[in-house]
Amino acid sequence: MHAYDDQNIFAKILRGEIPNDTVYEDDYALAFNDISPQAPVHVLVIPKGAYLSIDDFGERASAVEVHGFYAAISKIVDQLNLGEKGFRVIANTGHDGGQEVPHYHAHILGGRVIGPMVS
Ligand code: 5GP
Repeated sequence: MHAYDDQNIFAKILRGEIPNDTVYEDDYALAFNDISPQAPVHVLVIPKGAYLSIDDFGERASAVEVHGFYAAISKIVDQLNLGEKGFRVIANTGHDGGQEVPHYHAHILGGRVIGPMVS
C-alpha cells in the first residue's frame, strides 16, 4: 500500500484550500457534491482522517472514527430523502477499482435507477 499523499485534492478540500459544495459535515466526515455528477444525486463522503482507501480505513481507523463515518452516511441519506427509493454507495479502490483520488471516499448515487452494477 502506498503512503498517504497529503497533497491529494480531497486533503486540500479538508484543509479549506479548495472550495467545495458541502452537503453535510461533522467531526468525522465531510460530504460534498461531486464536481462531475453521474446521477441527480452524487455526493462524496470522506473521513476527516488521512486514509487512502476503504481497506486502509478499516485497518487503521478507530472504532469511533468508523462509527462516526458510517453514521454520517446514514444522516446524509436521511437528509437527502434517499431511503425510500434507494441509492448506491461505491468505494472505488486502487488501480483496478478505478480510484482517482487517494483519500478514502464513498460515492452516494441516487435520484434515479442507477442501473447495472458493472457496465
Ligand atoms: P474516484 O474515481 O477516485 O472514486 O472518484 C473521484 C471523484 O472525485 C470523481 O467522481 C470526481 O468527479 C470527483 N472530483 C475530483 N476532483 C474534485 C473536486 O475538486 N471537487 C469535487 N467536488 N469533486 C471532485
